[in-house]
Formats: sequence, structure tokens, C-alpha cells
Amino acid sequence: MSHDCSKVLAKVILALDGEMSPTEEKNFLDEINHCPSCLQKYDIEKSFKSFLCHKVHKKHISSNTISNIKDKIKDFRTEGNAGL
Ligand SMILES: [Zn+2]
Repeated sequence: MSHDCSKVLAKVILALDGEMSPTEEKNFLDEINHCPSCLQKYDIEKSFKSFLCHKVHKKHISSNTISNIKDKIKDFRTEGNAGL
């Protein structure tokens, strides 16, 4: 089975947005379960999404906090290119 890490992020977002059918999602999760770096990407996106959902419902979150988180995610995505 071919696995292309660069295509996983788009799928992660589809899965987290509920845009995948249950079968597609299961196949996708099976796939990333074999790839620690993709699994980590998925976990980060998932925590980010649930963090936003929870915070937005409770109170207004400062845009500063959101951009800090986005920076962290961006750092992770470009890890290996930009370093720290
Ligand atoms: Zn991968």
C-alpha cells in the first residue's frame, strides 16, 4: 500500500470536518496508524479543533492565542525545514 505523507494533512482536515464517509475515515485511520508522523499530525489537528470548539463556546478567545497556536502548528508542519 502506498502512503504519501504529504497528502495526509488534507485528509486529516476532511476527516475532522466530517467530510469523509465512515468507511473512508476508517481506512484513513488504519493508514495513519502505521505512520507515527501522520498520526501525530492528526492528533495535533484534532486537539486544535476541539480546543477551538470548546473555547469558542465558552468565551471569546483572543485572536492572539489563536495565532500562537497556528504558529505552533505551522512550526510542526514545516519541521525539518525551518527547525526552531
Ligand atoms: Zn505518513
